Amino acid sequence: MKRKPRIGIIGAGPGGLAAAMLLARRGLDVTMLERADREGGRNGWLKQSGYTFDIGPTFFMMPFVLEEIFEECGRRLSDCVDLRPLEPFYHLTHADGTVFTPSGVPERMREAIGRIHPPDAAGYDRYRPYHEAKTQAILPCLSQPYDRLYHVLKKPLLKAIPHLSLTRTVWEELGLFFADNRVKIGFTFQSKYLGMSPYACPGLFSILAYTEQKWGIFHPIGGCNALSLAMGKLARELGAAIHLNTDVKEIVIENRRARGVLLANGERADFDEIIMNADFAWGMRHLIPNALRRKYTDENLDRKRYSCSTFMMYLGVDRRYDHLAHHNIYISGDYRGNLEDIETRGHLSEDPSFYVQNASVTDASLAPAGHSTIYVLVPVPNGQKSLDWSTVKGPFRERILNKLRTRAGMADIENHIRFERVITPDDWQSDMRVGYGAVFNLGHNVTQMLMFRPHNRFEEFQNMWLVGGGTHPGSGLPTIYESGKITAAGICRKHGIPWKDSGRMP
Ligand SMILES: Cc1cc2nc3c(=O)[nH]c(=O)nc-3n(C[C@H](O)[C@H](O)[C@H](O)COP(=O)(O)OP(=O)(O)OC[C@H]3O[C@@H](n4cnc5c(N)ncnc54)[C@H](O)[C@@H]3O)c2cc1C
Repeated sequence: MKRKPRIGIIGAGPGGLAAAMLLARRGLDVTMLERADREGGRNGWLKQSGYTFDIGPTFFMMPFVLEEIFEECGRRLSDCVDLRPLEPFYHLTHADGTVFTPSGVPERMREAIGRIHPPDAAGYDRYRPYHEAKTQAILPCLSQPYDRLYHVLKKPLLKAIPHLSLTRTVWEELGLFFADNRVKIGFTFQSKYLGMSPYACPGLFSILAYTEQKWGIFHPIGGCNALSLAMGKLARELGAAIHLNTDVKEIVIENRRARGVLLANGERADFDEIIMNADFAWGMRHLIPNALRRKYTDENLDRKRYSCSTFMMYLGVDRRYDHLAHHNIYISGDYRGNLEDIETRGHLSEDPSFYVQNASVTDASLAPAGHSTIYVLVPVPNGQKSLDWSTVKGPFRERILNKLRTRAGMADIENHIRFERVITPDDWQSDMRVGYGAVFNLGHNVTQMLMFRPHNRFEEFQNMWLVGGGTHPGSGLPTIYESGKITAAGICRKHGIPWKDSGRMP
């Protein structure tokens, strides 16, 4: 009997877990090697003193991508995770006090726009059909590989070309529909989901805001980490072995072919195919000797463009803040200046935009009764800029606490903190192994997308594959799950295992 192909996956983040489930379901011999003591990676959990926080993702969008993966594995996502739709999606507060409350109901959306700038409500009537056509054209491009030149010439990309808005940024694209800057920010700040500025982000990503409106924003009970937990459980049930506390030191390359891995404990494990889910920039630099790399040498990695980083505060507090919504976004009084500080100047803004998740208003499981979990995310420059976090961390924490007091109406927050953890860009790099602390990965500029992004079937070495935010289609949970699917499909096809693309899109 033919031996099952042995697949080694470095890292059990969302991308690795998606690939593991799909490959184990098709009978391949899957081994995951995860250095942490739990699966989930950046979509894992932080539990302390009775409080549960998501480490990273808090917005779960386009659930149909993960639903399809679960269905292919013989389960229903809704049987494994309790998803709650949020309506309105979030409160976005401008410096002048205006609050924008986007919704999945077109009529409410129109009203929300009209409350800020009445003439722009009519722009929404043009925005919707334009973005429906754009989304229908672009999404199919995200579920197929771009590792070969002929992939570029395939029908989905050719059909999408007129919708790619190649000559416009996201900000310029929204200018086609809306005049008021506050409305435009409500439809463009989503570029931050990719860690980019809407003034630089390619116009095709205007679909991000539309995907919210079309499919909604969900909170999984327990947090987005509940998705990783459910994926790990199902991967194990399907036969994948997940070895936690298992640190891969090096990928063994012989004759430009990935053969196996060396573990930090000195053991070697050999595989037929190796999938790297570790952060791309970090993994390239630390897992494969520089001398062996031709395209992604350390020097080339340094020259690439990366997303912003984030300054994080996870606060367990002994009171509730019921005046806040589940998701709250506060826009800087100098929105553009703040983005320039992050992307070009490498400064910490006096008045940064920030995000507060107050998930306890939806989910009682996250904190003891009467308490709540406050998750604060502030976009900041990545590690390519030289900020000394050991000296700026304390004063920046004070600045953000002050913002919570003055802008988020949490005047007494400091008296109520019972648990606190802060993560800086340095911590993302050293503890979480994220290259340059760029938590949303390689930038999504045109020269780093599709065939220009590191390929799922990795171009440098045979038998090596990538999943996660650093490969195609890109960062964000739905696209990362897609990367797991694209890579699993490539491996199955290579080994003659039937694979049928469903291409389903509701
Ligand atoms: C603060 C923050 C907020 C975010 N918010 C959202 C959001 O709201 N919605 C959304 O869709 N996306 C969001 N994202 C982006 C993205 O969805 C997550 O970062 C996602 O977890 C990335 O998945 P991944 O599979 O690429 O890798 P990771 O989650 O980074 O997983 C990689 C895994 O590899 C392991 N590993 C690394 N090196 C080794 C080694 N040598 N040996 C063994 N194991 C190793 C790591 O421990 C980790 O478990 C957010 C990200 C962050 C950081």
